[in-house]
Amino acid sequence: MNYYSLNHKAPNTTFENAVVKGLAPDKGLYFPESITPLPKSFFENIDNLSNTEIAFEAIKQFVSPEIPKDVLKTIVEETLSFDFPVVKLNENISTLELFHGPTMAFKDVGARFMARCLGYFNKDNSNEVTVLVATSGDTGGAVANGFLGVKGVNVVILYPSGKVSDIQEKQLTTLGQNIKALEVNGTFDDCQAMVKEAFLDESLTSKMQLTSANSINVARWLPQLFYFMFAYKQLHNKYEDIVFSVPSGNFGNVCAGMMAQQLGLPIKHFVASNNENNVVTRYLESELYEPKPSVQTISNAMDVGAPSNFIRIQEIYKNNFESLKNNVSSYSFSDDETREAMLEIYNNYNYVADPHGAVGYLGCKSHLKNNPEAHCVFLETAHPTKFLDVVEDVIKEEQPLPEQIQAVMGKEKEASLISSYEDLKTFLLKR
Ligand SMILES: *Cc1c(COP(=O)(O)O)cnc(C)c1O
Repeated sequence: MNYYSLNHKAPNTTFENAVVKGLAPDKGLYFPESITPLPKSFFENIDNLSNTEIAFEAIKQFVSPEIPKDVLKTIVEETLSFDFPVVKLNENISTLELFHGPTMAFKDVGARFMARCLGYFNKDNSNEVTVLVATSGDTGGAVANGFLGVKGVNVVILYPSGKVSDIQEKQLTTLGQNIKALEVNGTFDDCQAMVKEAFLDESLTSKMQLTSANSINVARWLPQLFYFMFAYKQLHNKYEDIVFSVPSGNFGNVCAGMMAQQLGLPIKHFVASNNENNVVTRYLESELYEPKPSVQTISNAMDVGAPSNFIRIQEIYKNNFESLKNNVSSYSFSDDETREAMLEIYNNYNYVADPHGAVGYLGCKSHLKNNPEAHCVFLETAHPTKFLDVVEDVIKEEQPLPEQIQAVMGKEKEASLISSYEDLKTFLLKR
């Protein structure tokens, strides 16, 4: 599959090149040249397909012929070595648990898939790359874990000092090997800006091949479309109008859901659920797109002021505001509302949600007010113990730590503190 730049000022390129480069030379995000819907029989027969079979069929057009079919089968199988259960809360609301991977974040899937693609492209050691990634919380751990030990790939992770949870920080600063963490004196937007500047700095890119592992990278972004298919498989015999409420930050996840819909998955509607960083909610109300600096919330992985994937969403809906609005709603919720929702979910359904999932739950409730016939699935994007302070403070009950979390808690943090782009550049050049 070839990819074009959404800035339309760079040549089209292969999947391999899109993954290795991350961003097009004109700074645009890459988008696939075509999307061919899967045959109806695929969806009719979905009950008989395993998760890896579903994923293989869904992704193959986007990665072939650069990744041969037998290699792709292995990549998909290794990527998806855990469960994606749907848990029903009531007749109208379920949650899709995306936190059963090694770092208990939904980003595990994209990170593991992308790492394996890069590993394949570097098979003859000719393609060494440095993955540069900014994280507002979960990306860092998932990327660090997904790329750990992959030959020919060095990973440098930037995270905002004091703005990620202790567990998140441990997950991205304790692995060693080919993974380095940089603690940035600033916000997530500062981290993201530094990463973008590095990609555009020729004095750097002439010396090393840099790529990103944020959802701007097609190999991180596209595999997220699997989730929606896995949920559909579990729900389509019970419910007709399936709606997904996606807690959104950079809008990669919800945009991947829209790709699943483009492939023919019968999804009725999307709800993009936001915390107070609500540029898209405001856009759908006013048709004015006004990014703002991010504000800090308890759902910190969604503290994004200028969501990078929104441009892909615009492309999917051909820049048609009405068709976008018909397919997507967006709501924004405060931290207090989020805490109340966590308590409500716990009291009513004996279910412990993390703050991001709780924002998704609130999105479902808002949507159901005018669409009572729908079945709304909110994506539970992180395990609640990754936000232990908030969760225990709200539900007033101690949470047992899962194995994956316990394993990192005792380890020593290793990170270098940086304050400016110059610091980042110095760090990269001296390695
Ligand atoms: C990254 C993240 C999100 C937001 O996903 P986007 O694809 O950036 O919209 C939501 N919840 C959690 C826990 C995350 O880590």
